[in-house]
Amino acid sequence: MPCELCQETGWKSVVIDGVSRVTRCECRLSTLIARRLQEARIPPRYQRCTLDNFVLYNNEELNRAVDVARRFARGFPAVNKGLLLIGPPGIGKTHIAVSVLREVIANTGARGLYYDTRALLRDIRSTYNPVLNAAEMDVLRPVMEAELLVLDDLGAERLTDWVEETMSLIVNTRYNEKRPTIFTSNYEDIPDDVNSLLVRVGFRLHSRLKEMCDLLEYDGPDYRNLPPNAGADDLYALWRQQPRRKLPAKAGGQARAQLRPSKVAAEKTELKWSGGRAGT
Ligand SMILES: [Zn+2]
Repeated sequence: MPCELCQETGWKSVVIDGVSRVTRCECRLSTLIARRLQEARIPPRYQRCTLDNFVLYNNEELNRAVDVARRFARGFPAVNKGLLLIGPPGIGKTHIAVSVLREVIANTGARGLYYDTRALLRDIRSTYNPVLNAAEMDVLRPVMEAELLVLDDLGAERLTDWVEETMSLIVNTRYNEKRPTIFTSNYEDIPDDVNSLLVRVGFRLHSRLKEMCDLLEYDGPDYRNLPPNAGADDLYALWRQQPRRKLPAKAGGQARAQLRPSKVAAEKTELKWSGGRAGT
């Protein structure tokens, strides 16, 4: 719909103290926001997510997570830390993360970007394909430079030296440039477990994450198994019914065996990324 204020010129006339002047038209901001939302790579199924259409129930940790997310979205860009949403699959972590991303873009016109972590690593790897002939920086640069980045499903990718180095490069660059990131992960932040966040992402990234993020860990029923009209009471009832999560008793030794202090950390500076060993 053409703008009536400026006839699509981007400039409109205003009269200030009896003097006619031209000024930037508001429609330019809404055009910018629409474009930024388009460019944010938000998956179609999450495109209508907001914090207000997220069904809450009497779950203290969940409510705290949504409160912190809301403060982040309203405070952006004046935020000190990113967010790290942790919990089992299907409890709305991506919904919360994408809602914040959308709200930030809509409020500020910021350059925001959503990436599933595995898809991101796959895209970076694909740049080594000589037929496609794209440079890895074509994928990496927008990820490093986005004013707000959502990295979904952290730790889903098997940890290899290449994965660890690539993720460290991305996360450290953003950390050094003070650009906040919102992570989600299905892996709990518990010690000595094969499926702990620490084992899934490695020592370096784990300690960096704790430095740069507010940790928001909660559990709940899998929203994807609910009837579409399930309300707060249904959610609460299902949540109370499900077994409390317990740590596997014998995982300790196994987990420790899988933890490898990073060989490369001591010798390399963080930004010295060798690149071309993709897929190892
Ligand atoms: Zn206009």
